[in-house]
Amino acid sequence: MAKIRIYKVAEQLGMPTYEVLEILKSLGADVKNHMSSIDEDLIELLNEERGVRKQESEKRKKKKEKTIMLEKLPTMKEITRLLDMNMEEIILGLGEWNVIFDSKKPLPPLVVERLAREKDWDIEWKDDLREKTLQALQAETLPRPPIVTILGHVDHGKTTLLDAIRRSKVALSEWGGITQSIGAYQVETNGKKITFVDTPGHEAFTAMRARGAQVTDIAVIVVAADDGVMPQTIEAIQHVKAADVSIIVAINKMDKVNVNPERVKQQLADQGLIPEEWGGEVICINVSALQKKGISDLLEMILLQAELLDLRSRQNGFAIGSIIESRLDRGKGPIATLIVQEGTLRVGDYFVAGATWGKIRSMTGDQNKIIKEALPSTPVEIVGFSDLPPAGTKLMVVEDERIAHLIAEQKQQKERAKSLKGNIGKITSLESLLAPEEGKKRELNIVLKADFQGSVEALEQAISQIPTEEVTINLVSRGVGNINEADIILALASSGIVIGFSVKFPTEVMKIAKQEGVDVRLYRIIYEIVDDIEKALKGMIAPKMVEEVIGKAEVRTVFKIPKVGVISGSYVTDGKIERNAFVRVIRKGEIITESAKISSLKRFKDDVKEVTIGYECGIGIDRFEDFTEGDILQAYIIREE
Ligand code: GDP
Repeated sequence: MAKIRIYKVAEQLGMPTYEVLEILKSLGADVKNHMSSIDEDLIELLNEERGVRKQESEKRKKKKEKTIMLEKLPTMKEITRLLDMNMEEIILGLGEWNVIFDSKKPLPPLVVERLAREKDWDIEWKDDLREKTLQALQAETLPRPPIVTILGHVDHGKTTLLDAIRRSKVALSEWGGITQSIGAYQVETNGKKITFVDTPGHEAFTAMRARGAQVTDIAVIVVAADDGVMPQTIEAIQHVKAADVSIIVAINKMDKVNVNPERVKQQLADQGLIPEEWGGEVICINVSALQKKGISDLLEMILLQAELLDLRSRQNGFAIGSIIESRLDRGKGPIATLIVQEGTLRVGDYFVAGATWGKIRSMTGDQNKIIKEALPSTPVEIVGFSDLPPAGTKLMVVEDERIAHLIAEQKQQKERAKSLKGNIGKITSLESLLAPEEGKKRELNIVLKADFQGSVEALEQAISQIPTEEVTINLVSRGVGNINEADIILALASSGIVIGFSVKFPTEVMKIAKQEGVDVRLYRIIYEIVDDIEKALKGMIAPKMVEEVIGKAEVRTVFKIPKVGVISGSYVTDGKIERNAFVRVIRKGEIITESAKISSLKRFKDDVKEVTIGYECGIGIDRFEDFTEGDILQAYIIREE
C-alpha cells in the first residue's frame, strides 16, 4: 500500500502538521513527527474525523453553549475535543503556567477549569466530583521539610551561622573536609530534616522571586547583638515581608562582652517585628555562630515554625523544582542546583526549565553523593541541561523529549519577542497595575526611596492619607538613598512601582528598570506624588495600549527596485495588511525584525491603503531589506485597551 509522509498530507489538506499529527494519534496511528509516514488510506479517515470535530465545535458555537458539564475528570485527549483545542496548544498552555501534566492521567479539576477559561467556557462538575477530587489530591500530599534562607546585614554572621549549622549536624568524616557546597544543604535534627539555602543576600532572594521562584518557607534574619539592626537588616526584613515568608530572628555574637539583646529587640519592634516575649509573634533566639551556641535551639524553633505552617507537597508523579544556582562546567556542561518542590525527581527524567530543557543525566546530593531520586525540599545538583538556566527558573518534568523541546522552544520565542519588544505590556506600570484583575482586589505596591529619613516619613504619611476604597496601597519598602538594583527587583517581584523623591536614578539602574519593565517615577514635590497616585486611582492616567494582530502575509518573491529599495512580493494569508500598521518579520518561527513601519504597499502599480486575505501585493518596510522567500509578515496595530 502506498505510504505518504505527514507533511505531505498536511500540504494536501491545507492543515497545520501538528493538527494532522494530533488527529492521527487520537485515531491510534503510530506517528512521531512530520517525517513519519502513513498509509494513504488513512487520509480519508483523517479528513472525516476533522469534519466531525469542526461540526461539533460549530454546533456548540451556534448554540452559544458556554458551559460544559463533566461527569468525570477528562483526559488530555478528551479535553482536546471538548474545548476544540489541539494537544500542542494544551501542552504549551500547561507548560507556560508550569502546570505539571501526564497525558495518561486525567487532568485535575483546577487545570481543566483554567484551560476552559482560556476558551471562554465554564465547567460544571457533576455532584461533588470537584470537591472530592480536590480533597483526594490534598490527601495525597505529605509533610515536607522546611526550606530556610539566612539573611541580614553584612558581617553580622550569616556565613558563620550557615557553617555552624552544617557542621553541628554532619560528622566531619563525612565531609572529608573538602566537600564543596552545592548552594544548599539539609540537616537532620530530632529525626526531622531542614533545608538551608545559601542565598548570598536579599537581592538574590528577591531576584529569584521576581522570576517566579518562591522557594523559602522561613527566613532567619541574623542581627549581630553588638551592632543591632542596620540598613541591610531593614532591607532584608522588607524583602522577606514582601515575599510573605515567616521570620525567625537569630541574635548573633552573644559571646561578645557588653552586648544587649534587649536593645536589638526594641529595634526589631520599631520595624514591626514584635518579639514573642513581648506579646508579638516573632521568635528571637540568642546564638553565637562562632562558638556554635544556641544552634540547636534555633533549629528546634525552625521545626516548630514549620509545623505551624503545615508544609506539605505531593510526592508522587513528575517533579517541579526551582533552580537556585547554575554554572558552566568545562567537562559536564551546564550544571544547576535545584530544590525539588513537588513530586519525585529521577535520573533519566526529561524536563523543561524556562527556555532550556534536557534530560537528567546525573544527580548529586548535598553531601556529594550520587543519588537516583530526590523528594520534595531536597537540594540536588543536576547535569543534563541544553543551556544554562538562570537562578530562579522553575524546572518541570515532562513526559518525553518532544514535549520538553516543544515547550522550551516556545519559551525561547517568547523571550526573543520580549527582548525585541522591550517588554511592552508588562504589568508593572502605575496605570496598568491599577487595571482591575478578575476576582482580585486591586493593589498598588510601592517601593519608596527618598533623600532623608524625614522625607520618607512625610511621604509615608501623605500616601497613607490618600483616600482609597477599592485599592489597597502597600508600601512594600521604604528607604533612604538613591534608587538601586535591589529596589527594581523588589518592585518587579511585588508587581509594584518605584517612587523616588529627590534621589538619583543612576543610568545602570535605569537600564535594568527598562529591561525588566518596571515603572520608576521621580519627584521633587510631595504633592505631585499624591496627585499622580490619586489620578491613577481615579483611572485618569492615560489608558493602557495593547497590540492587535490584524493580518499576515507570506513573502513569495523578493525584488529590488532602483531608488525604492527591496520589495517583497507577498500573498496575504490571513486578515489584512494596512498601510499604517506595524509589521514584524518572522522567519522559521523567529522574529527577525519588530515594530517596523510599512514604507510602501502596492497592488500592481497602485499604492493602496490595505490588502485583504487572498490577494497578492508588494510590501516594502522602512529600513529593512533582508526579505527571504517564506518569511511571514505579521501586521499589527497598537490601540487602547
Ligand atoms: P556575613 O557577612 O553576615 O556572612 O558575616 P560572616 O559570617 O562572614 O561574619 C563576619 C565576622 O563576624 C567574621 O569575622 C566572623 O568570624 C564574625 N562572627 C560571626 N559570628 C560570630 C559570633 O557569634 N561571635 C563573634 N564574636 N564573631 C562572630
